[in-house]
Amino acid sequence: MTDAAQIRDRFRSVFGGAALICRAPGRINLIGEHTDYNDGFVMPAAIDASCWVAAARRNEHRLVVASENLREQCEFDLSAASLRPAGKWSDYVAGVAVVLASEGVRVPGASLLVSSDVPMGAGLSSSAALEVAAGLALTGLARERIPPGRLARICQRAENEFVGTRCGIMDQFASLHGREGHALLLDCRSFEYETIRLPQGASIVVCDTRVKHAHAAGEYNRRRTECEEAVETLSAALPGIRALRDVTLARLRQHQQMLREVVFRRARHVVSENDRAIAATRALREGDLRTFGALMQQSHASLRDDYEVSSPELDAMTSIALEQPGVYGARMTGGGFGGCVVALVDEGRAHEFSTRLAAAYESAVHLRPAIRVCSAGGGAEQIAGEAWQA
Ligand code: ADP
Ligand code: MG
Repeated sequence: MTDAAQIRDRFRSVFGGAALICRAPGRINLIGEHTDYNDGFVMPAAIDASCWVAAARRNEHRLVVASENLREQCEFDLSAASLRPAGKWSDYVAGVAVVLASEGVRVPGASLLVSSDVPMGAGLSSSAALEVAAGLALTGLARERIPPGRLARICQRAENEFVGTRCGIMDQFASLHGREGHALLLDCRSFEYETIRLPQGASIVVCDTRVKHAHAAGEYNRRRTECEEAVETLSAALPGIRALRDVTLARLRQHQQMLREVVFRRARHVVSENDRAIAATRALREGDLRTFGALMQQSHASLRDDYEVSSPELDAMTSIALEQPGVYGARMTGGGFGGCVVALVDEGRAHEFSTRLAAAYESAVHLRPAIRVCSAGGGAEQIAGEAWQA
């Protein structure tokens, strides 16, 4: 694990001089899947692995960005009105600089050193962690303070508009608002959120299937279109609805015959998943991990059968996880068609759980999974330290 002193030292040896240090964590989503773009509810938690950025001003209006993880350095000219995506990792940083500038922040020329403990492409949102850490560093160097909700939207826009990935607000929001030992219930329509203490004695285990199917992006877009179709069709009977968020399960059943069969099932997933996220919040508040675990299982079944975004590997990982001692619940998380399963496990048995699950998954699927035990960590921060050049 990286720490502030290490990244400060590394910055000194790569670029020389003192640096401002920022840290932004990755995240895991406990429940509320494919609800974000339906104006619904999600329940992410920031995790105890972060992206670190050390940064200092340069005399020229350029950004020089080095990634310790990728052992690569990139440069771009901030004054060029033509700053275009390069199709590589530095776009996440350039995108944040471009969107900040478009919102009136006077982004200075700077050197940035990136070192992240969030594994890339493993469902823990290393991209949002990088954007948020870079956003805090660039605003810090500009001596501007941007409220976290606004910075989350700026980082999301960087990913949507500059990098070109259609992601919701959850990842950036969770990275900025995370709180140690807590999950967040985020309303993706209003951006209102509450923090919910996770009961003591439960560990979050992230189980990467090590499979990502190539058609995932196309299927994701198709699901979004199907949800839009459901809203459009239902609004003839339910005037005023703007998103599936506004539809109850009872109303959906009442008007089932208006929808194509597949669109009905997509809508049923979203509507029931919103209900589950709310019920899960209640369960956590009551310290009821069994109910929470049961809701995770229902979420998985709904994603598999109604939303059809699971995969044989995700189903295998989930059902093997549920056979292990000490498990409360498990489900696929993220967009689907591969990626990760998240499990909630009795803290004292989390390591035994991981070992057993890894062995059983490997013998069933013939792939070695990556399993990590996480805890809910604090949100992104600028770390006060030695003076850095302004
Ligand atoms: P996820 O966010 O789930 O980890 P993404 O595909 O959205 O997966 O983002 C991963 C990408 O983010 C990487 O391929 C890389 O371009 C960029 N990235 C994340 N962390 C770093 C890092 N430490 N150094 C360089 N690039 C990074
Ligand atoms: Mg990402």
